[in-house]
Amino acid sequence: MSTSRPDAARPAPPAGAAAPTRVVVIEDEPTITSAIADRLTAEGWEVSTALDGVTGVETVLRVRPDVVVLDVMLPGIDGLEVCRRIQADSPVAVLMLTARDDETDMLIGLGVGADDYMTKPFSMRELVARLKVLLRRVRRTEPATPPPDAADAQVALQIGDLLIDRAGRRVMRAGVPAHLTPTEFDLLLCLASSPGTVLTREHLLADVWDWVDATGTRTVDSHVKALRRKLGSDLVRTVHGVGYALEIPEDPEDDAASAPEA
Ligand code: CA
Repeated sequence: MSTSRPDAARPAPPAGAAAPTRVVVIEDEPTITSAIADRLTAEGWEVSTALDGVTGVETVLRVRPDVVVLDVMLPGIDGLEVCRRIQADSPVAVLMLTARDDETDMLIGLGVGADDYMTKPFSMRELVARLKVLLRRVRRTEPATPPPDAADAQVALQIGDLLIDRAGRRVMRAGVPAHLTPTEFDLLLCLASSPGTVLTREHLLADVWDWVDATGTRTVDSHVKALRRKLGSDLVRTVHGVGYALEIPEDPEDDAASAPEA
């Protein structure tokens, strides 16, 4: 692990003062870009725009936004690659814009690490509403200043070979650190809060995403897929038609005894 904090370049706001919301919009169609920028500026947010993927990545690294609005189809490097690069640097909330529903399905299948998806055309009102939900969640779960080691131990959650450091928002499985996005971390924490218990997609949406309606169930599926990819496919069990459960063998010997023989 690097010792430099990923957000070290970001100036801390004065105590008690709310930092302005920073948004980066990466979209190659200038009319859409400026329409989004105008609408989000009207919300009082600080908006930076980029018209291609490479500039978008640079802008995100420089601005350190609270949220990124990212179009999938971009010249140069596409939105998938932009998402990978900015998430590799430091976890940030991403709302991805897609051209078609099947494109959204494809992205969800890939588990690219976006937090939400909107298919064009969309209403600005809906975009703002979705971004506000995303921001509320990011703010609620923002890591506090890193605790001293003594406090660190108290907030760590150990389930089998999975170690979750709640305050530091770090995860290790079998001693190997995993790089999770903020949403993936929240989802894992929610599942880990009652291991072995099946949680419905609706429950997870309400708890992790703050969504009261159940229209975003594919988003849950996408993040579960990402968790499995990063932490092992045996981590989360799917209960078809119901939801998901975190299941980690407490004892490897028990696991070997119960595992079906090939
Ligand atoms: Ca585009």
